[in-house]
Amino acid sequence: MLDQDCLFCKIIRGEIPSSKVYEDEEIYIFRDISPQAKIHYLVVLKDHFAEASLMSEEQAETLGRAIRKIGLMKSELGLEGGYRIAVNTGDDACQSVHHLHVHVLGGEKLGESMC
Ligand code: AMP
Repeated sequence: MLDQDCLFCKIIRGEIPSSKVYEDEEIYIFRDISPQAKIHYLVVLKDHFAEASLMSEEQAETLGRAIRKIGLMKSELGLEGGYRIAVNTGDDACQSVHHLHVHVLGGEKLGESMC
């Protein structure tokens, strides 16, 4: 279910342009507009929910499949050297878009610090 006013739902619907790299019936992967590494993707489930505590069991399984998909596609995504995934949740983590999304960073040697 998509949300009328959500930025990422609008991107999924094609109402706002994005640099899409992959899409299937469950997930949508696109480039972050403000990359924090040489490669920075956002992976979003097509279902709208703000954060993990609001996920159904089925959506949790979809999120697992999305993370597996990143691994399976790592070469075509340019991530063969490794990558970092992060999910910002809530104000302390500076979540700015309230549609759960996975940041995928790589394409270069990342810093050891997580923040
Ligand atoms: P977060 O702060 O974890 O909620 O992440 C939101 C991310 O969305 C940030 O890294 C933004 O750079 C990114 N972002 C915001 N608007 C767009 C957009 N129109 N297209 C691609 N990425 C976006």
